[in-house]
Amino acid sequence: MARVYNFSAGPAMLPEPVLSQARDEMLDWQGSGMCVAEMSHRGKEFMSIAAQAEADLRELLKIPANYKVLFLQGGASTQFSAVPMNLLHGGGKADYLNTGSWSKKAIAEARRFCEVNVAAATDDCKFTRAPTQEELALGAEAAYVHYTPNETIEGVEFPYVPETNGKPLVADMSSTLLSRPVDVSKYGLIYAGAQKNIGPAGLTIVIVREDLIGQPIAGTPTMLDYKVQADGDSMYNTPPTYAWYLAGLVFQWLKDKGGLEAMAEINARKAKRLYDIIDASAFYNNPVDPQARSWMNVPFTLANPELDDRFLKEAKSAGLTTLKGHRSVGGMRASIYNAMPEEGVEALVAFMQEFERTQG
Ligand SMILES: *Cc1c(COP(=O)(O)O)cnc(C)c1O
Repeated sequence: MARVYNFSAGPAMLPEPVLSQARDEMLDWQGSGMCVAEMSHRGKEFMSIAAQAEADLRELLKIPANYKVLFLQGGASTQFSAVPMNLLHGGGKADYLNTGSWSKKAIAEARRFCEVNVAAATDDCKFTRAPTQEELALGAEAAYVHYTPNETIEGVEFPYVPETNGKPLVADMSSTLLSRPVDVSKYGLIYAGAQKNIGPAGLTIVIVREDLIGQPIAGTPTMLDYKVQADGDSMYNTPPTYAWYLAGLVFQWLKDKGGLEAMAEINARKAKRLYDIIDASAFYNNPVDPQARSWMNVPFTLANPELDDRFLKEAKSAGLTTLKGHRSVGGMRASIYNAMPEEGVEALVAFMQEFERTQG
């Protein structure tokens, strides 16, 4: 069966060369006689896979030497609690920007540990824009500032990096990390669940400035203590070995593609192609402020929602799958992460134009 173009928000498509290499190495990784999933995480084979993946990620993101890179489990949602546990440093307050469904969840979890100052919120317009820097009402006593640069469900993305007057900036980059270059030095901590733009589910990446770790609140579970994980090279217990290996193959693929500058050009082109045809049509609509439209997740509605089911069914027959929007937003959503080729976006554009011509 032919592979489809899968527009799922996550778990999402993986690059075909990565899957092919994993297949070729499935029964015997480089003469070891084993699948990577069968290897001891403390053996020299897996240690080399793990070290290479970290080195490649550091190279791709130009991660400064004073940052630790952790390969953890538990998804981004576990970081919603690990962040306050590790970064409050005895303080009782943190600033959070409320810009969509994922920041709402991060805020709800942080409230279990501290007083949350919602420094900006865009719920009044159903999360269809990003707040400006001038709107951010940052608290003087906040231990850190947390935000979600790309809201996966609403398709809203910050067009700038917030300035926080020296407070550590924490970013949930689950659906945008590796889509373009990032100046890591502007952040205290970056985290991301892998299943959007990095690799398979089961792996979570944390990039954290060294001086911020080592003062967790009393009662922090050992597994959630960043210092323990950093000192143990993310092997305090058995790490998600196979997911780590696949992410490493994705990093190599990104390097082969020319790195994150090259990905940024491709991703900007893919997003523009979709938004352009949506804006040019009265049949499709995207409600997000053009300044704050996501490169990765493109939600759109049809003028006549009664055609939604037909749209999804015909798209699926055309090999374009998982286009249904999140239940909280409705309509459609095309997630176009790194692994979605430009041909996939072209196929979607052609389908949408033909659907409008025949049904509009
Ligand atoms: C998907 C997603 C999450 C949740 O990730 P899990 O790994 O399932 O916990 C959190 N934040 C953002 C921005 C996401 O896109």
